[in-house]
Amino acid sequence: MITKEQADAFGAIETPFYFYDLDLLRETLDRYAALIARYGYNAHYALKANADDRILEIIRDHGLGADCVSGNEVKLAVKSGFDPKKIVYAGVGKSDKEIRTALRAGIFCFNCESVPEIRIINDLAAGMGRTAQISIRVNPDIDAHTHRYISTGLKENKFGISPWAFQDVADLLAQCRNVSFIGLHVHVGSQITEMPVFALTCRRIEELQQWFIDHGIPVRNLNLGGGLGVNYQDPAGEPVARFEDYFDTIHRNLVVRPGQQVHFEPGRALVAQCGHLISRVLYVKAGREKKFAILDAGMNDLVRPALYQAYHAIENLSSSKRKLRYDVVGPVCESSDCWGKNRLLAACTRGDLVAIHSAGAYGQVMAMRYNQRDLAKAVYSDDLKK
Ligand SMILES: *Cc1c(COP(=O)(O)O)cnc(C)c1O
Repeated sequence: MITKEQADAFGAIETPFYFYDLDLLRETLDRYAALIARYGYNAHYALKANADDRILEIIRDHGLGADCVSGNEVKLAVKSGFDPKKIVYAGVGKSDKEIRTALRAGIFCFNCESVPEIRIINDLAAGMGRTAQISIRVNPDIDAHTHRYISTGLKENKFGISPWAFQDVADLLAQCRNVSFIGLHVHVGSQITEMPVFALTCRRIEELQQWFIDHGIPVRNLNLGGGLGVNYQDPAGEPVARFEDYFDTIHRNLVVRPGQQVHFEPGRALVAQCGHLISRVLYVKAGREKKFAILDAGMNDLVRPALYQAYHAIENLSSSKRKLRYDVVGPVCESSDCWGKNRLLAACTRGDLVAIHSAGAYGQVMAMRYNQRDLAKAVYSDDLKK
């Protein structure tokens, strides 16, 4: 929710810009961290969701580690003060340079996504006189019931190692002196809102770890990844994700063996709702059949609708009682540069401030300069108070 005072302060700021409600971020993290502590779990924030300095600082101060998917993310996590012993690193295509960066940083764990990757990590670690801790990212073949572009745990997806390759993994581990196997990792997709998907993931990981245990390979860590969704339809009604339901589902369905550590990699659920993309109405174009509200924010600022057909709630912050329907679009020369069709908004006039909600995750990090547009800057609630 954007307050009247905040909206008034927006008047002096060049649009479009990202507005981050840091109070909401802190509240979200307080609730998340309390549950992690209650169950004795470990959490690593997925930096790719939002890598803004101020946001990283707040997340780090809540005691979370970092989940990285590139060498540069590992570097950024270290530079931002995350404890290397709490950094995990996944990705199907880790380059030699990236692997060396992570080895040098002394990260907690590589989440390996193919059999050949294990050998390369071993060889590079040997060359540096180090030993790398690795987990196997397993492809559990689970349908996350989410958009197919953000589903990652089906056997047709490129992520993870399938169970039929476990024997090859075991044989390779027996030969490799510079990697140490510490556990299993799964991440089945993003924006998952159905709790049974997580229950099923817990049951699958139990079957999968049984294979390793049966083959005399101890599994000390279980990493369940991220993926918890947020309410894009009604962000004001549900500003904090359903962490209680989520951890309750995990707790009831996951078999944890004595001494085993359980890890999570939340991304979207921590940061989506604290971010809003703020823009202005440039023009209202009345067609025969419909009206277009043309905003100064475009798909280059927030690509999710164009990339994943994602829904974002849109609100005209400039008060008007009368509601009308608009196709809300951006200025970029692509037909997919559309914020929403047939949306009911307070009647728009040129200059009105419009908020695109739930823009804190996979928003600013994916911004690009297509059409030579400027990158939208970040504005923080803490600074408006001063
Ligand atoms: C993207 C990603 C996450 C975070 O996913 P969210 O849906 O944002 O929670 C966690 N783990 C891995 C390996 C990822 O690639």
